[in-house]
Amino acid sequence: MDLFEYQGKQYFARFGIPVSDGRPADTVDEAVAAAEAVGYPAVVKAQVQVGGRGKAGGIKLGDNVEEVRTHATAILGMDIKGHVVKRLWVERATDIAEEYYASFTLDRAAKKHLAMVSAKGGVDIEAVAEEDPGAIARLHIDPVDGLTSADARDLVDQAGLNEKARDGAADLLMKLYRCFTEGDCDLAEVNPLVLTTDGRVHALDAKVTLDDNAAFRHPEWDEYRSMQVMDERERMARERGLQYIGLDGSVGILANGAGLAMSTLDVVNQVGGDAANFLDIGGGANADVVASALEVIDSDPRVKSIFINIFGGVTRGEEVANGIVEGMSRVDISAPIVIRLDGTNADQGRAILAEHESDSLISRPTMIEAAKKAVELAKARA
Ligand code: GDP
Ligand code: MN
Repeated sequence: MDLFEYQGKQYFARFGIPVSDGRPADTVDEAVAAAEAVGYPAVVKAQVQVGGRGKAGGIKLGDNVEEVRTHATAILGMDIKGHVVKRLWVERATDIAEEYYASFTLDRAAKKHLAMVSAKGGVDIEAVAEEDPGAIARLHIDPVDGLTSADARDLVDQAGLNEKARDGAADLLMKLYRCFTEGDCDLAEVNPLVLTTDGRVHALDAKVTLDDNAAFRHPEWDEYRSMQVMDERERMARERGLQYIGLDGSVGILANGAGLAMSTLDVVNQVGGDAANFLDIGGGANADVVASALEVIDSDPRVKSIFINIFGGVTRGEEVANGIVEGMSRVDISAPIVIRLDGTNADQGRAILAEHESDSLISRPTMIEAAKKAVELAKARA
């Protein structure tokens, strides 16, 4: 889950990372009240999940009530690179002396955490990496050892931050690393990390991606989720506890196991079709799960046919077949369904499906044949 800037800053604050005093606002009046509370000058910031808000006119300083009112009016509803601004963050403006960059990410190839610090902040870091790679200090951190204060200090020195910023930046890096690890982030980025004219170091922006696999140990993340702009299908799937990713094609897919679901996408592509989604219903295939999954898939108007691809393992073929038939009977599905059932007791399973064979429930013995049939049906109904 990607956080909005203000949520990222609230998360940072939990770990003691210094951020400016601010308030979220959904209306011009709320923005004005927020500015009155934090004091002037105040910065009005568009809350959209896209970079370069400053350049797009989504970040403005106001010296008084009138200016904040003008800026809030202009920014609310603004379209920034296809993202419409529905919420603002109003914070006390900072007097910036210098702008830096700091982040922690996971380097999967190295199986380590990666810290990056640069004295060239406030600008697009990808551009810095391209034009002046030496300007970014990097450190791989073994997750077992963690980041030491000496490491943090080295990073800051290597990056060549102003002497006045070094203690504050090293301290902030330690806190940011704690936020990244204990806070279960996939990314914790501060751009710009600023040195203020009065010598303090703090986070002026926040880009945080939370690792959804760790959500079970973070009840506090629930409040962040309510603001997420989630695909309607993905929201439905989440409510039903399904592993679902929406795509743009016309063949709805339901498979057991993530590997099989991915292969199914490939096979559908191979025979000239496009998948409408990725959906892994996990090991079993009981009626409840099948019914929920079919409901989610069929709610998508793009779906013209549904391909159920099941490989029976521990769950036997006849149980799977019964689950599918029972699940189908509970929901009213408009798209025709093509099933490929294989694995343990596939014969018994197919015999059950054969009893229910119709124009809207078609069984095929192999993955490729089933994919062809599903794609053919989807094209015919397009
Ligand atoms: P982004 O453009 O979407 O990454 O938004 P940022 O939050 O990083 O802000 C962009 C730029 O706006 C920063 O690099 C600053 O130069 C400027 N800015 C943001 N907040 C303040 C502030 O409190 N005071 C001043 N003077 N400038 C600010
Ligand atoms: Mn930024």
